[in-house]
Amino acid sequence: MRVRIPGFTGAFSIRRQLIVGVALVQLLLMSILVIDLTARQRSFLTERAKERVLFQVNALATSSLPLVIVDDVEGLTEIVDAFSRDRTIRYAMLTDTDGKVLSHSDHTKTGQQLEDAKSLEVMKSSSGPQLLFQSPSTVQATAPITVRGRIIGWAWLGIDRSGDQQYLDYVTRAGLIYTLCAVVLGTVFAIALGNTITRPLRSLLLGAKRLSRDRLDLPVPVTSNNEVGVVARAFNTAMERLSQQREALKNEIAERKRAEEALQRANASLARSNQELEQFAYACSHDLQEPLRTVKNFTSLLGRRYKTKLGNEADEFIGYIVDGAERMETLIRDLLAYSRAGRSDKEAALVDCQRALKTALSNLRGATESSGASVTSDELPRIMADDVEMVQIFQNLIGNAIKYRGERTPNVHVTASKIDGAWLFEVRDNGLGIPAQAHEQIFGVFKRLHGRELPGSGIGLATCARIVARRGGRIWVESEVGVGSKFKFTMPEASPAASEQAALVQS
Ligand code: ADP
Repeated sequence: MRVRIPGFTGAFSIRRQLIVGVALVQLLLMSILVIDLTARQRSFLTERAKERVLFQVNALATSSLPLVIVDDVEGLTEIVDAFSRDRTIRYAMLTDTDGKVLSHSDHTKTGQQLEDAKSLEVMKSSSGPQLLFQSPSTVQATAPITVRGRIIGWAWLGIDRSGDQQYLDYVTRAGLIYTLCAVVLGTVFAIALGNTITRPLRSLLLGAKRLSRDRLDLPVPVTSNNEVGVVARAFNTAMERLSQQREALKNEIAERKRAEEALQRANASLARSNQELEQFAYACSHDLQEPLRTVKNFTSLLGRRYKTKLGNEADEFIGYIVDGAERMETLIRDLLAYSRAGRSDKEAALVDCQRALKTALSNLRGATESSGASVTSDELPRIMADDVEMVQIFQNLIGNAIKYRGERTPNVHVTASKIDGAWLFEVRDNGLGIPAQAHEQIFGVFKRLHGRELPGSGIGLATCARIVARRGGRIWVESEVGVGSKFKFTMPEASPAASEQAALVQS
């Protein structure tokens, strides 16, 4: 069965080329053979006819010699008739040296005179037997009848060559039939060979088409053990491998999808519980503030009113309670700030960092004045953030710089520079410094490097990290113990549209 390949017309198929090619080659070769054979046959027959006519004319001359000598016309007629019995002899003739016909196979011509120029010329020459005329249908020759070197007459003979021509026609016809047979046989052979070669090729082609349409499940039939068979087998192996790889890839994708879905579910659940936890922490710290304030206020009142009345020990205990309540208040306030920093309901707006720094410094006035700290800054930009949060960051970092100053008078400098579409802020101090191994851990909640001698909750830096991360920035510290620290953080740049709007509002 012929395999139909869509888009393949077969006009220049290998099969067609093979068939046409073999037929043409056969035709060409056989034609050359037939033409050559016929030409050789023709020249062979011509040579043979020439030899025969010369031999026969010589025989006629020799056998008629005695009768010419005695001038026996009847005898000569008998000899001529005897020669004429051979059907291939067209005519036989004997003449005297003047061209008078002594005897002729056509008796009516006996006694006539030869008059054609060629015959007369031949008779003048005294040479031996010679050819007079030759054509595909006849050959004629003449030979002198000689006695002791003297010519006494001439024998003339014409041979009919139509037999030769018939034979040549027969040879040509046979040659043409053989040519036809060879072409037909060659074509049949080419068709068979073409089918043997092209059928598996067509199967391969079909396989390749299927492959291009993503059908890897149908193998190409292997119909032979030759090179095409080897290619078909290799093709099938490649398709099988491809199919296996695709299956493996499918499984892997499905596996990944499942893992991704599980991760998404886990993330969503984590986000939910984080949110719940944040709400819980916020609610706790918010609601704890009120009773704690009551405890602190009334304990302070108790301490003031009943000072010395309850005894020294009671005064000391009341002092501890007030101190504890105050620390707890700080802790709760900081926790509240931390949980607020994680809430994502605050939209970013244009913030003037210079103004945020000013607010932070005014909040820190007590600490600044008591420590004699000098806080300076370069010009700070406007950025996309939340103003309360920016105040929080500056307040935490500058507050820490003053708090962890050591023996030196604090010197704090705030700068901002542009890097890759963001602002890089730096708060530099000349304080105690932080050991390298603690550079990361100090940004975690409740991570402190100092004891009670320096008050703090261990939440300030964690709050800063949270605010910065939520705005897409990063915070880190570069520090050397005994030299000072550089707290650095990045914040997104304000879009040109937002800056323009802010400028309009200000004007
Ligand atoms: P705290 O309320 O204790 O200051 P922070 O989260 O603000 O909490 O800081 C965490 C710890 O990092 C601090 O306890 C302190 O040991 C260290 N630290 C922070 N800032 C500085 C600084 N500028 N110089 C030296 N150490 C610092």
